[in-house]
Amino acid sequence: TYVVIDNCIACKYTDCVEVCPVDCFYEGENTLVIHPDECIDCGVCEPECPADAIRPDTEPNMETWVEFNRKYAELW
Ligand code: SF4
Repeated sequence: TYVVIDNCIACKYTDCVEVCPVDCFYEGENTLVIHPDECIDCGVCEPECPADAIRPDTEPNMETWVEFNRKYAELW
């Protein structure tokens, strides 16, 4: 899965949301998140993010971010 990290906070761009083929972005007041169970790992959103806030969970130490994204995707 891909996840949104804290670089997203207060970012005004939603280019990532528009390109996602499965609509798995969820929007809160200050950040977006990706539902990790809905993301199909296509990678299309990653280069669209001007804040470099979208990362694959294969990067080191991403477990906390995966749980953060899941938690808020389910709340929003
Ligand atoms: Fe959506 Fe693809 Fe990005 Fe996952 S990797 S959030 S499916 S655009």
